[in-house]
Amino acid sequence: MNEFFESKKSVEGGVQIAWDSTSIGYAQKCMRYYYYKMVRGLQPKSTSIHLVFGGLYASALEHFYLYRAEGATLDEALRRVVKETMIDSWDTEKNCPVPFDHVAKTRPNLIRTIVWYIDQFGEESEHGLRTHHLQSGKPAVELSFTIEASEEYYFCGHLDRVVSMADRLYVADQKTTGGTVGTYFFNQFSPNTQMSLYSWAGKHVLRSPVSGVIIDAAQIAVNFTRFERGITTRSRDQLQEWHTETVEFLHRTNEQVAAGKFPMNQASCGNYGGCEFRGVCSRSPSVRENYIRGDFTTHNWDPLKAR
Ligand code: SF4
Repeated sequence: MNEFFESKKSVEGGVQIAWDSTSIGYAQKCMRYYYYKMVRGLQPKSTSIHLVFGGLYASALEHFYLYRAEGATLDEALRRVVKETMIDSWDTEKNCPVPFDHVAKTRPNLIRTIVWYIDQFGEESEHGLRTHHLQSGKPAVELSFTIEASEEYYFCGHLDRVVSMADRLYVADQKTTGGTVGTYFFNQFSPNTQMSLYSWAGKHVLRSPVSGVIIDAAQIAVNFTRFERGITTRSRDQLQEWHTETVEFLHRTNEQVAAGKFPMNQASCGNYGGCEFRGVCSRSPSVRENYIRGDFTTHNWDPLKAR
């Protein structure tokens, strides 16, 4: 294997031992994709606006709930996260906003979406969703976890927030999309590795059953943002099945990694708007490295790196 991969904290003996939902998803999608993303750390030189927008939005809401749980009023918390987002979306070197090269996912629409979300969902009520508090009294917000999943593997990741609703616990997650949010949108989360891992991890972190994940989805359009709240549940049996099958899958994956085998899965190339490596995989093997040098850079992302 290569030094770049082996320098990751999550890698031991040439194979990955600590897995988050992102890296599991890479391997599930396509082993060639896992090789490019995880083993070589390749990413397109042009930053994805969807990642920038989604990251700033998720961070703003995570901080909002943290400030609220620490005692800030709704208006104080709102003002703080709007200010933070304005700063985080400003290029101080060029003294201008970072570019948002998208018709709907713009900087003003990001601020609008944060403000409208807090307007609609920000107020917690006795009978609605409330941020859960740990036994220590701390709010269950920004919870990073690394949990032994088997003798060989750890599952790791980050729960933005755990909430209680009608005496049940759920992990809370945010999604943004350009499409309409309805049943079809929420169906994609079952079965779904990220949501199963969140439910499994929530149960272990809190030492209490977690019923699933509550997903607040925001449809970002040019002139409006529309929100829908959906729930994806996981029973104990479902989580047991997911855990067993995922550990077996990781075992098979690491056998392939150890053998240096990263076959293409061409059934995945067109999913979610098309794989970012289509331009590489569609070329003759002899010219792929030239193309990678021109269009990609490296980023040593590691699931075990503290956030
Ligand atoms: S383009 Fe297709 S084969 Fe290539 S990495 Fe992406 S999913 Fe795999």
